[in-house]
Amino acid sequence: MFNLKKSFFIDLDDTITPTGYRYSQVVCEFCYYLYEQLDRNAPFVYDLVLLQQETDLKLIKKYGFFKTRFPHSFVLTYREVCKRAGLSPKKEVEKKVKEIGKKVYDMSYYKKNFIEGVEETLEFLVSKQDSLTLLTMGDKEIQLGKVRALGLEKYFQNNLLVVPEKIQATYKKLLKEQENTPYMIGDSFRSDIVPSVKSGWNAIYIPMPGGTWSYDKKFKQELTKEEWDRVIKLRNFKEIKEKYDIL
Ligand SMILES: [Mg+2]
Repeated sequence: MFNLKKSFFIDLDDTITPTGYRYSQVVCEFCYYLYEQLDRNAPFVYDLVLLQQETDLKLIKKYGFFKTRFPHSFVLTYREVCKRAGLSPKKEVEKKVKEIGKKVYDMSYYKKNFIEGVEETLEFLVSKQDSLTLLTMGDKEIQLGKVRALGLEKYFQNNLLVVPEKIQATYKKLLKEQENTPYMIGDSFRSDIVPSVKSGWNAIYIPMPGGTWSYDKKFKQELTKEEWDRVIKLRNFKEIKEKYDIL
């Protein structure tokens, strides 16, 4: 007997909740604060943002997605700016930039903060009795904090997977437990689409309207024509409902 239920694995950040937007807000606050503190010693804003991004990416490359990484990137950026300007970094400024950076982990931001159309679409998929699993990358405590703030247990029950990275090995391992070819749904070409499709999955790609973050932009791998045939690209999450019958 075939199991006709569909199986969906769904990404969290920038697929269900607007995380990138929050990070951008916090980076703006960091820059504004540094201009107040350093006056004309601060670099031009695009150089400052670029320095913070590069510092953050280096930390990801070296240590992965650990909890204090992002606030720490602010401290390291401030120190580098001081070094370039021939100034000594101040402890109280380091403390303050770290506090600003920690705002991305303030769970009150995520409380019921769904991207438009996500809630109704998740309810629709639950009503179809499909198998839903949250598959997110990052620090376990932080990601599960977002799950609670959003109330995602209602849709996913205990199917909550927080992984350190989303690579082909992650998807190959999960595929072994599946009866039907599952779908990976997400905004990240690097983490959600390429490694899943290259592991034999189907995928639903919903890129962010304003473009993706630098971690994704550094990624150059492409899909073949045959692999693209297993990808459905949508403009927004609620389009899943319209396309449901062809899945
Ligand atoms: Mg994402």
